[in-house]
Amino acid sequence: MKKVAIVSCGAYMDQGYGCPGEWRCLKAAALGEGTFEEPAQVVAFVKCECPGRPLISNMQMAINLSGIKPEKVYLSSCLVNAKPECPYQKVSDLRALIENKFGVEVVEGTHDYH
Ligand code: SF4
Repeated sequence: MKKVAIVSCGAYMDQGYGCPGEWRCLKAAALGEGTFEEPAQVVAFVKCECPGRPLISNMQMAINLSGIKPEKVYLSSCLVNAKPECPYQKVSDLRALIENKFGVEVVEGTHDYH
């Protein structure tokens, strides 16, 4: 089973637009649904916070403290499909940043549950 990390949009989560703590991402990972090709073990769930500056250091800290480096990182569907879009960064830039920093594949989106 692959070890994965999920990055969510904290602004979306905090404002409660139907995300009560992100069971949907966790369900998709557990069942291998949505963008997960097979069941995956979530070893970190990192919440982005506006304007996104601490995300990389928080991800690094999650890796350091857990001692587990994820094999893939998933940007949550709420982050990727946000309307209005994130005013601070493009999803493609965020993806490149994580890929370059940690050397892991980054997948855009987690699930298509409603
Ligand atoms: S910076 Fe963008 S992706 Fe990050 S929490 Fe704010 S709105 Fe969401």
